Amino acid sequence: MKAADAGDRFVDLDLDLDPETFRRLGHLVVDMITDYYKSVRELPVFPSRTSAEVSKVFEEALPERGQDPEIILNEWLSKVLPNTTHVGSPRYFGFVNGSGTMMGTLAEALAASVNMNPGAWKPAPAATEIERRTIAWIAELIGYPTDCGGLFTSGGTMANHTAVLAAMRNSAPYDTTQEGLQRKGHHGRFMIYMSDHEGHVSITRVADLMNLGRRAVRRVPSRNDFTMDLGALERMLDEDTSRREIPFCVVGQVGSINVGAIDPMEGIARICRARGLWFHADGACGAVGAMLPEKRSLYRGLDQADSVTLDPHKWLYIPYECGCLLVRDREKLRRAFSMTAPYLRGTLPTEYTGLDYLEYSPQMSRGFRALKVWMTIKHYGAEGYRRLLRQNLQCVEHLDRLVRESADFEPLHRPTLFIYSFRYAPEKYRTAARESNVKAEEVNAFLDRLNQRIADAIQVSGLAFIMTSRVRGRTVLRMSVCSHRTTLADIDLVFRKLTELGRSLESEGTSAQGESCCYGERS
Ligand SMILES: *Cc1c(COP(=O)(O)O)cnc(C)c1O
Repeated sequence: MKAADAGDRFVDLDLDLDPETFRRLGHLVVDMITDYYKSVRELPVFPSRTSAEVSKVFEEALPERGQDPEIILNEWLSKVLPNTTHVGSPRYFGFVNGSGTMMGTLAEALAASVNMNPGAWKPAPAATEIERRTIAWIAELIGYPTDCGGLFTSGGTMANHTAVLAAMRNSAPYDTTQEGLQRKGHHGRFMIYMSDHEGHVSITRVADLMNLGRRAVRRVPSRNDFTMDLGALERMLDEDTSRREIPFCVVGQVGSINVGAIDPMEGIARICRARGLWFHADGACGAVGAMLPEKRSLYRGLDQADSVTLDPHKWLYIPYECGCLLVRDREKLRRAFSMTAPYLRGTLPTEYTGLDYLEYSPQMSRGFRALKVWMTIKHYGAEGYRRLLRQNLQCVEHLDRLVRESADFEPLHRPTLFIYSFRYAPEKYRTAARESNVKAEEVNAFLDRLNQRIADAIQVSGLAFIMTSRVRGRTVLRMSVCSHRTTLADIDLVFRKLTELGRSLESEGTSAQGESCCYGERS
């Protein structure tokens, strides 16, 4: 690298590396990545460092002078990896985080090297066509019409945002594209509907981003199996319409966040059709399950949704970021986002133009996300993907069996997809916990704290990463098994550890409280 001396006019300043140096450094990086993949099964899943400790590692003044690339790259080993939570570990079960495919890693490097921007066709002809093709493949995989529109987004939240905006642009009683929410004399609030228990918070974020107000998301009561009660939905729609509110979109959960529930989509589609509402299927975590013939019946009606969100960075194991939106009628998506400016097109239309994705979503410049999906789908094939999904389902069914056979754990639902919630609740507490009295409240409060402590303890142990959530108001252990690396042996190992932690924390709780007994602990 040439240093820029004072007075240098920078005409020759070339900050690229010479090819041989680049090759050597590239090999170094490939070695680091390979070693990482070799060790990912054994690494502590969570670094167990505080944010202050991690922040200290990166305390460093802005570099005034350039540094040696090899030294910089080696900081990946000395600073980054030791402070990393290994989402790629087979025993990482937090949030809904996919494990990251190797083809995805290679694709990311290639995509970065050419620096394509498929916001428009001209700067990225191949990237645009790969995206278009991959979207059609994903539609085909899940049984959605393959002539749909759609594109890759940063994630499910942005896919939901894009979908709900398109819903409003196409279903509102006046042209919100020009007048937004500010049409003179307009009355009535725009309303979105989703189920109360399992509806995802990203929809609330969307209502927020659209300035509809978070209260514009109406929570429809759900049934015992956590799916939306369609009778309740119709009653709510009737009530709101008679109050002159403006329902415009119903969001169905396709694989819900705590229990993997799938809303009755045929029913939602029918209700939406009859009332002129937009049916958006939020399948960020679950829609890809439709590729399994044995699960297809759960997904009946998905093909009738006006739009579908599906996150390749979840159950397709693609490295971050990668969400995806499918829209049945691509023209409706274009109507929502199309805008132009002289500098976006050039003035002379020629045969050298094509699909400009900037007309179909809020983003203008975009990354070449499609490549990692395209390459991974080609690597595994639909058949390989079905095998991986089934492996995750088997793991969850196995976990459910372990829970049901154990006297220490309480099952809370039947497994549908790859997300499973349950709680540590030894039998001796369960009868008391089911009553509705003060004692039951105390027992449950104790179990809530205990389950939280179990999750905290297993994280710090480094063996596995498990988080809690709330199901029917109680703290539960929630495992999202969407790693292509997880095996039945991992589930066994983790379940043994949970049992062991549960027992020891339970007895600690008891002894610490002496006479007031186990559920008297106050934090
Ligand atoms: C994860 C998830 C989202 C949000 O997706 P991001 O990719 O995290 O933005 C939305 N809906 C559901 C059902 C999800 O599981």
